[in-house]
Amino acid sequence: MDLRFTAEERAFRTEVRDFIDRTLPDETRARMASGRTPTKQQWGWWHGRLYEQGWSVPDWAKEHGGPGWTPVQRYIFREELQQAPAPQPQQFGTMMVGPVIIAFGSEAQKRRFLPGIRSGAEWWCQGFSEPGAGSDLASLKTSARRVDDHYIVNGQKTWTTLAHWADWIFALVRTDPAAPKKQEGIGFLLIDMKSPGITVRPIVTIDGEHEINEVFFDDVKVPVENMVGDERRGWDCAKFLLSNERTGQARVGMSKERIRRLKRIASETPAGGRPLIEDIRFRERLAAVEVELKALEITTMRVVAAEQKALGARKPDPASSLLKVKGSEILQSISALMVEAAGPYGIAAPMEEAPEGANEPEIVPDWAAMAQPIWMNWRKLSIYGGTNEIQRNIMAKAFLGL
Ligand SMILES: Cc1cc2nc3c(=O)[nH]c(=O)nc-3n(C[C@H](O)[C@H](O)[C@H](O)COP(=O)(O)OP(=O)(O)OC[C@H]3O[C@@H](n4cnc5c(N)ncnc54)[C@H](O)[C@@H]3O)c2cc1C
Repeated sequence: MDLRFTAEERAFRTEVRDFIDRTLPDETRARMASGRTPTKQQWGWWHGRLYEQGWSVPDWAKEHGGPGWTPVQRYIFREELQQAPAPQPQQFGTMMVGPVIIAFGSEAQKRRFLPGIRSGAEWWCQGFSEPGAGSDLASLKTSARRVDDHYIVNGQKTWTTLAHWADWIFALVRTDPAAPKKQEGIGFLLIDMKSPGITVRPIVTIDGEHEINEVFFDDVKVPVENMVGDERRGWDCAKFLLSNERTGQARVGMSKERIRRLKRIASETPAGGRPLIEDIRFRERLAAVEVELKALEITTMRVVAAEQKALGARKPDPASSLLKVKGSEILQSISALMVEAAGPYGIAAPMEEAPEGANEPEIVPDWAAMAQPIWMNWRKLSIYGGTNEIQRNIMAKAFLGL
């Protein structure tokens, strides 16, 4: 299998890189580089520019307003955004609910929802997990009871990323509690976050960030036309969505960017009278991560090349579990090396801006103050999108036949 890029693909990479260099504001790039989530304003603005360029929904076919790119072009595009680093298009709309609406939704749903996802005018969040349903997602209890031309929704979702920014939530809801199998009798419902009866409660994570929430539904009235597909077959939508979610999680470009940054930092940071990069134990660990990353990159390219050969046939590939496990482990290892590079500065609290009139110049570099919070925050990488243990179960079945 030839994994080299063609001349056209290399030209495409240059086009994407030039666009990012011309368009991405320095402030957004710096915020992304620090490891923080972009602000809603920064993210929304950037999504708008991608939209104008025709690049906001990289995975969608032309007939739905996408660029109609090949799998290799999509891979290059994401890698360039990650290496910049620039925000990705808003993932809950473009990578999750959008493809579900395209594959399972009605024509009316496509007309109503796809334009707002493409332009970024409507932000989405994902309402799958509940306090008693994470890995065992099919145990979910949030109910949707049909009353005339509405569903009445009651229950609670949790860990809902960016629910506080979202205009809409796509939720898995139990439509038939008496169904013989728990995967049956689940619907995939689109719910307006402004509906009366919805309460969003923030969860502040150990790094001090607010990116996740609890979402409560109290007799929330949702029109029946917001159910995607059959009200008892939402599990099919969920499986389709989760396999897309995992493929995006190798994040090779992001790891490359972080390693480049780490090398620069380690060559400027003194440790025992010489730069940290010259410390043999540090170098060994850095090299080990780089080797793993090279292997992940080649594996990702093999999956992308196979997808390209299958002419875009989008069957869930169990290799996406492997990409998710390795991608998250590599980023976690890099974050640990960053903490080591930060040394004692790593325990300083991050400060986005020194308060006005501060009497001391800042002595802790931003990257060092962010090293610990990022290390803690990135524990999430092996949890969300299906934990790494669950991915290993999938691989054990698919590859080893266990
Ligand atoms: C930062 C963050 C953001 C998230 N964002 C969202 C979101 O936007 N929307 C959403 O719906 N969800 C979101 N999630 C939830 C995420 O999908 C769940 O946390 C995840 O599926 C695990 O579920 P759980 O937390 O209930 O853990 P559990 O399922 O209770 O698992 C606990 C532990 O047991 C292990 N385990 C469970 N079952 C098995 C098994 N069969 N074999 C081996 N080990 C097993 C797990 O691997 C884990 O280590 C987010 C989570 C985090 C941390």
